[in-house]
Amino acid sequence: MRSSLNTEYYEKITLKIINPFRIAQYVLSAHELKQLPKDEGIEVAIAGRSNAGKSSAINTLADQKGLARTSKTPGRTQQIVIFELDEGRRIADLPGYGYAKVPLKLKAHWKTVMERYFQTRKCLRGVVLVMDIRHPMREFDEQMLSWCQAAGTPCHILLTKSDKLKRGPAQSTLLKIKRDLPPIASIQVFSSLNKTGLEQLVEKLSNWYEYDHKEG
Ligand code: GDP
Repeated sequence: MRSSLNTEYYEKITLKIINPFRIAQYVLSAHELKQLPKDEGIEVAIAGRSNAGKSSAINTLADQKGLARTSKTPGRTQQIVIFELDEGRRIADLPGYGYAKVPLKLKAHWKTVMERYFQTRKCLRGVVLVMDIRHPMREFDEQMLSWCQAAGTPCHILLTKSDKLKRGPAQSTLLKIKRDLPPIASIQVFSSLNKTGLEQLVEKLSNWYEYDHKEG
């Protein structure tokens, strides 16, 4: 008992030391692609339907409560928010999609902008696609996956709010989705509430950002 508590304690401490995402800071909000930082270095985009838990996942990853805005009235911000880890490494928080109250014209505009972002952004190393584990693989999630597939961009799916399900149903949702994923995609369960899966996410992103290659 004591040693398992110790293990848990050391895992938490180690994660604090090795989680390089805690230094993330806000840089800018872009309404147009041309307002984005120069297309160089490594960018990882985070996407998800409104209310999926995307902002909470970013805050959990960065261990900062107010970095990305969480909201009970989702979908208001139709912009790409850029956070920086260092000069050459960025997180792009893509606008939440699927919220009914966004006017159709704006939705169409954003679909075009997003599609162009995926097609043209050379520094885009991967996409974290956040889904509520209780409502996975909706139309827009499929859309994101197919853009990633078309561009050959890796896509890592976070089935978040996993604390809302028991372990069994959470695992079976994971396995069911995993079976049909294209080779560019990977998947894990996650919870911002109890930090389930945080280590796995940090590991995936560290790999994309090449922390393990450059900093040893
Ligand atoms: P976004 O619109 O995708 O950025 O979603 P938010 O991060 O704002 O989250 C939407 C709602 O879900 C908020 O009320 C959050 O507190 C809640 N939420 C987000 N992540 C989790 C989670 O892992 N577990 C639980 N129980 N609730 C969560």
